[in-house]
Formats: sequence, C-alpha cells, structure tokens
Amino acid sequence: MRNDSQYRGRLAPSPTGLLHLGHARTFWIAAQRAKERGGALILRNEDLDPQRSRAEFSRAMIEDLQWLGIRWTEGPDCGGKFGPYAQSERRAHYLEVWRRLRDGGFIYPCTCSRKDLAQAASAPNDADDEPIYPGRCRGRMDAGAFSSPAGVNWRFRVPEGERIGFSDLNMGPRSYVAGSDFGDFLVWRRDDVPSYQLAVVADDGAMEISEVVRGADLLKSTARQLLLLRALALPTPDYFHCELLRDEKGMRLAKRHDALSLRQLRESGMSPEAVVELAFRPIEGGELL
Ligand SMILES: [Zn+2]
Repeated sequence: MRNDSQYRGRLAPSPTGLLHLGHARTFWIAAQRAKERGGALILRNEDLDPQRSRAEFSRAMIEDLQWLGIRWTEGPDCGGKFGPYAQSERRAHYLEVWRRLRDGGFIYPCTCSRKDLAQAASAPNDADDEPIYPGRCRGRMDAGAFSSPAGVNWRFRVPEGERIGFSDLNMGPRSYVAGSDFGDFLVWRRDDVPSYQLAVVADDGAMEISEVVRGADLLKSTARQLLLLRALALPTPDYFHCELLRDEKGMRLAKRHDALSLRQLRESGMSPEAVVELAFRPIEGGELL
C-alpha cells in the first residue's frame, strides 16, 4: 500500500434525488482508491442548480453514504480547509473563474433563444449530451463590456478540429474532437447559474483534486474540462471513469429507479455489505432487478 499524502479524491453527488446503486458503486470505488493511497477524500455537494436541488436530498445523501460505510475527510458536514463544500456557497469562486475566462478571451456571450438553438444546433449523438452549438454568437458582442455574467448565456469557444485526448485510468486512451464531438459549451447560464463544467473545474482546481473518479457518462465532459483547465492554467487531475450500471432494458440507472435507491434497499432490510456486493455483481440482463 502506497501512502500518497498528495492524493486528493472527491465524491460529488448532486442532491436532485436519492442516491442509487450506481452511485454506491462509483463512490465505493472512489473511497477505496483514496484509502489505498492514504489520501484525502472530499465530499462536495453539487447543489448548484437552485431549481433542481433540494435540501432533503442533501441530507439524505450524507446519511446514505455514511450508512454504506463510506468515510470522507472533508465535506459540508465536517468542514476542511478548502471549504465551503456546497457549490451553492461557492459563487465567488465561480465568478472569479468567469472573469478570468472573459479576460483571456476564451468565452463569449450568447443571446440565442431556446428556439434559435433548436433550429440551429445539431442534436448530439448521445441523448444526455448538450446539443452542438454552431457558434453563431462568436464575435458578435464585446465580452469585455460585461461586468457580470447575468442575463445572457456564456459559451467557451472550442478550438475547432483539435483532438483532445487523455488516458483514463480505467477505460484507457480516449479522445474527442472539438467542434464535432462537442461544440461551444455553456459556462454560465442566462438565469445566472454557472454551468456544471465551469463549477467542476473551478472546484477541482481550488480543492487541489488529484484524481477524479466518476461515472462513464462524463467521459466526454472530461474533454471540455481539459480545455477549461488549460485556459485557466490549472493542473490536470488523473481520471478514472467507472462503468455505469444498467437496468434490464439496458437503460442506465437513474434517480427514477426508486427501487434501487440506497434508501429503499436499506428499508427493505439489506445490510450495507449486501448493497455493496449487489453493486459489484457482474451485470447480466436484468439480474439486478
Ligand atoms: Zn448564440
């Protein structure tokens, strides 16, 4: 066992529903990797979206993770020197990052309506992904004229045609082409909420995260985040993306799979050990359900 006091991993759930078996699997792996290295594990509450986040789910996720036997060294419940650990309390950090991106010429305001976008943007290959923005607001307005991000969308100008590669510690080499696999992505929303991509990069940088363990649904987002890290001259963490659990129809588990929420599994009398075992059982058609 290597003791690597530099290792800093994180658990980053969003409180928009109850944690399920898929989260248990990913977070268990993240916790084991931090433990094996004698490093730190940070719990970060990704409650950025005021429309979708609920305090009751924030409480439930802490309880459910503790029940499962996962322990962290810094978090909203126990503090730490990189706090606050709830994204809803970190707005000043995100504004600072927005300013740096604006001053560096990396982002631009976008005034397209939802309707404009529906007509102009090409649909992503992956239904979960944001549409590929065709860049129609590039160069339209002077970003420097904005002293705050509110009121318009802000997008990152991707280097058209550049292949963004990384070596995933679990899934091997990956690469995505900017401009065709993904377009100019949102960094700040017109309703004055930073985007997921901006907040994650800002927080992973500020919290000195050395390894990101998360679900494979975020593989492509890694390419976007690498561009943001480069623009901000922040160090690049290692990445370890975990296979997603799927239900009997091949759909990946989501918060709507109530029967597989940790809360319900616990209430049905399962022990934490049995839940972890279930989360790591080889997945064959429908076995989980
Ligand atoms: Zn636009």
